[in-house]
Amino acid sequence: MKDSMKMLLKESRYLHSVGVMEVSYDLALINGYDTEKASIAGILHDCARTLADEELRKECEKYHLPVSALEERLRFLLHGKVGAAYAKDKFGVEDEDILNAIIYHTTGRPAMTLIDKILFTADYIEPYRKQLPRIDEIRRIAYTDLDLAMFMILENILEYLKSTGTEIDSLTIETYEYYKNILQIYC
Ligand code: FE
Ligand code: FE
Repeated sequence: MKDSMKMLLKESRYLHSVGVMEVSYDLALINGYDTEKASIAGILHDCARTLADEELRKECEKYHLPVSALEERLRFLLHGKVGAAYAKDKFGVEDEDILNAIIYHTTGRPAMTLIDKILFTADYIEPYRKQLPRIDEIRRIAYTDLDLAMFMILENILEYLKSTGTEIDSLTIETYEYYKNILQIYC
């Protein structure tokens, strides 16, 4: 899978994927999760990220994947569900937990499974990522408290999207509210 991704992705995105794979492995180990499943989700999660907007839509038709009005406008969001379809179709991944983690790595979802949270967090904190607000603090917290890390990452993402005026998927807002509530942080 690593070799295939090296051929498929440009250098920077390949490095990102390897970073996500390695951090997913570590987070799985720390949280008592299957390290192989987490690593597979990590290396494959962006396997459809190279597709142009129009191609992503075509692949959704091919795999009979629903496309929301928002996804129609922000097509890159589709690389999660198309990535999962590729993971199954081209890489033979049958495991539903891995496939769901890949689907939801773009938006999050309320009450995420452990592998969902591992992938979502690893995607954000992997070492090759450019500097992000509070990243050192989030990295430190991710290794001890995944739910708090999720909250902080979602807070950052929403703040960033608001500052750029980008439309926000309601699922991401619901996910943020979910983690805010379970942490009982009311700010
Ligand atoms: Fe992605
Ligand atoms: Fe990614």
